[in-house]
Amino acid sequence: MKIHEFQAKQVFRKYQVPVPEGEVATTPAKAREVAAKMDRFPVVVKAQIHAGGRGKGGGVQLAHSLEEVETHAKAIIGMNLVTHQTGPEGKTVKQVLVEAGVDIEKELYLSLIPDRETASIMVIASQAGGMDIEEVAANTPEKIIKVYVNPLAGIQPFHCRNVCFGLNLPAPVMKEFTNLLKQLYQLFVENDCSLVEINPLVITRDKRVLALDAKMDFDDNAMFRHKDLLEFRDQDEEDPLDVEASKYNLNYINLDGTVGNMVNGAGLAMAVMDTIKLAGAEPANFLDVGGGATAEMVENGFKIILSDSKVKAILINIFGGILRCDVLAKGVVEAARNTKIHVPLVVRMEGTNVEEGRRILAESGLELFTAADMKSAGEIVAKIAAA
Ligand code: GDP
Ligand code: MN
Repeated sequence: MKIHEFQAKQVFRKYQVPVPEGEVATTPAKAREVAAKMDRFPVVVKAQIHAGGRGKGGGVQLAHSLEEVETHAKAIIGMNLVTHQTGPEGKTVKQVLVEAGVDIEKELYLSLIPDRETASIMVIASQAGGMDIEEVAANTPEKIIKVYVNPLAGIQPFHCRNVCFGLNLPAPVMKEFTNLLKQLYQLFVENDCSLVEINPLVITRDKRVLALDAKMDFDDNAMFRHKDLLEFRDQDEEDPLDVEASKYNLNYINLDGTVGNMVNGAGLAMAVMDTIKLAGAEPANFLDVGGGATAEMVENGFKIILSDSKVKAILINIFGGILRCDVLAKGVVEAARNTKIHVPLVVRMEGTNVEEGRRILAESGLELFTAADMKSAGEIVAKIAAA
């Protein structure tokens, strides 16, 4: 689960990670009010969306008067902000963060992320922070340093020293930076983060360290123990079909292709997506209905897949283990009746009670294609989707 910058900064404050003074606003009048309260300029007006690259897309503006704050807020709230992270369709901005402007001496980059390869928490840092960090990573990777923290031992002074020296920090800011890094590590672990990123982390002209930007992503599997963080969820920022699927407890991810598919088991679902691609088509989604899927879950799965207008054909591939093929077949028939399936359906199933399942499908009067194995299922559905 991702959250907005202004929310991440609330969490930062709780952990004494320094951030500029500021407040969120949903109207230009409120933006002006926030700036008036701070009573100093410049003020920065920042679009709040779950994507980076806002600066380059025109979503971060500097204002030198209350009038300018209001003008920028008026322009940004409601705008369709397109950045390299939103995709070409962009994102509608609903709110802005109005923040005290900062006198920047240097922009650094700092992030924490779990590293599966070393089973550690990786600290990534760079002296060349700011809006072009992607280019730094691509062209001058030596300017990016990585320090690995063993989560069992936690962050130690030598980790902090290695990051400080790697960043070539001036001596007067080392202590403050070290405190910030320790606090950030604590925040990362205690909130089950999958990413914390500060870009830029700035050194101000008066040698203070401040997080100008804040990005946080949480491990969805841990959200059950962070009920307080759930309040930060903004469903407008999520894919509408993904939101719908989460209501039904389906493991669904919307993708760009035309072949919808419904599978039981995440591994099998991955294999089915490969099969679809091998046959020359593109999957429209990932959908794992789970090992013990009920007829109702199958029906919900259909609803989600069918509400995606890109879908030209659907492939159902079920291995009947815990989920018996006759139960699945009944679910398919029922769902087909209730949801008025308007695209061709290809079914491949195998396993427990498969004969009974096939009989139910054959006698249902539904128009569907049955495939003997996975490879041919992929080929049939790809051919239909391409027609
Ligand atoms: P992003 O483009 O979505 O990552 O948004 P950021 O929050 O990183 O803002 C983009 C850029 O705006 C930063 O890299 C800074 O250069 C600039 N910026 C943000 N806040 C301030 C500020 O208070 N003062 C000044 N001078 N520049 C700022
Ligand atoms: Mn940034």
